[in-house]
Amino acid sequence: MEPGDALYPAVRSNYLRAGSPGLVLRPRDAREVAEAVTFARSQPVPLSVRSAGHGISGRSTNDGGIVVDVSALDGIEVLDETSRRVRIGPGARWGQVAAALRPYGWALSSGDYGGVGVGGLTTTGGIGFLGRDHGLTIDHLRAAELVLADGTHVRADETENADLFWAVRGAGFNFGVVTAFEFEVDDVGDIGFAQLALDATDTAGFLRRWGAAVEAAPRDTTSFLVMGGPRDGRVVAQLMTAVNSDDAGTILSRLRPLAALGPLLGQSAQILPYPAVVSLPDAAHHAQGEPVTRSGLLEHVTPAFAADAERLVKGGETFFFQIRAMGGATADVAPDATAFAHRSANFSVVAFGASRARLDRAWDPMQHHFTGIYPSFETDPRPERLLDAYPPPTLERLRALKRRYDPENVFRDNFNIAPEPVPVVQG
Ligand SMILES: Cc1cc2nc3c(=O)[nH]c(=O)nc-3n(C[C@H](O)[C@H](O)[C@H](O)COP(=O)(O)OP(=O)(O)OC[C@H]3O[C@@H](n4cnc5c(N)ncnc54)[C@H](O)[C@@H]3O)c2cc1C
Repeated sequence: MEPGDALYPAVRSNYLRAGSPGLVLRPRDAREVAEAVTFARSQPVPLSVRSAGHGISGRSTNDGGIVVDVSALDGIEVLDETSRRVRIGPGARWGQVAAALRPYGWALSSGDYGGVGVGGLTTTGGIGFLGRDHGLTIDHLRAAELVLADGTHVRADETENADLFWAVRGAGFNFGVVTAFEFEVDDVGDIGFAQLALDATDTAGFLRRWGAAVEAAPRDTTSFLVMGGPRDGRVVAQLMTAVNSDDAGTILSRLRPLAALGPLLGQSAQILPYPAVVSLPDAAHHAQGEPVTRSGLLEHVTPAFAADAERLVKGGETFFFQIRAMGGATADVAPDATAFAHRSANFSVVAFGASRARLDRAWDPMQHHFTGIYPSFETDPRPERLLDAYPPPTLERLRALKRRYDPENVFRDNFNIAPEPVPVVQG
């Protein structure tokens, strides 16, 4: 599709970002993906890769370049019921995956939103509502098929192209276009899901108490927190909490400590099928808001972090401040087992703002609290963020693989790992 085509307005932008690519290619199978990549690399224009278009960084669209949009590769196929092996196309959305797995009594921890695509999330990590029990989405990945920069289509798993398989799980977007993923999914019944609204005007104290409660909770409990700026002097925290159990007594025992963290303003707790928790929203993409985000991975909600977070939230520089619980099973995997290395983080923090300069002024002094970043939540273009995403041993290994698999740096639309290091100019 090109500018002027009737359907171009529907494909030019992604969920959060406006774009005006010169050409959007929509291959229908791996062979066509290879043709698209081969054509795109012959053109001296930017190349973006898109699965479902929910990239927060907005790198799945561009201005004047080519977008390879693999949303048509959205099949979900059970390969083996005994081993719960499922093959999923990158264009599928997590709401569709949850619905397709439900009849088997299965689920795959993904994120908190059913509209997000399998391609973007699984090439980065996957911090989801079942995360403390089941780990990251990539921890369930058993194989991936990719079209590489030279147009070849390869399989990567623990035995075949094992180094590429390591790289796909955290930095996959630097190495090719994934055309299929194979996962081992989990048995998951109905789960407890609660939405609690609490007065968090005592913001630092509230965050400290919430952080401690989350770390003390059994692994079956994963809580996500959202705050906006103060209204009439009051800060409200929304807690979305999943308890991987269908037993009402267990669910209530997990929720009580969270409900006691501050004055309770509203509550709803239900026992739901997992697809109801990550339901599929309206799929239209209208480049909503063009937000700036800053993010970090945190080991503990320390008093110093909580005090800085209170200043940020009350200062009005962020309209959406979110902390997702990690830890639990995520930390069972060794830091060098996948290209996602930040296994000791118990929390993923992100702040959405309207002004880059104002958010940076508030956020930069907070950087020292963080042990790294999760690329999917970050829009900061400064090159030093790459070092936050990939610690030195991981980055070195990724660069060596980049020299082997993509020496001309064809795939560079997202947290680019250049084959040779680019000097970082500070200041
Ligand atoms: C509302 C919302 C909620 C979210 N919640 C969570 C959450 O709870 N947990 C979480 O972990 N993340 C979450 N995310 C972040 C999300 O995982 C990333 O933004 C992800 O990249 C979106 O995937 P996509 O396929 O929809 O994106 P796209 O915009 O299609 O792609 C984003 C980038 O991923 C890469 N990519 C996409 N497809 C492929 C492919 N087939 N092969 C290689 N590279 C590819 C490209 O670099 C592309 O620029 C959320 C995002 C949104 C907008």
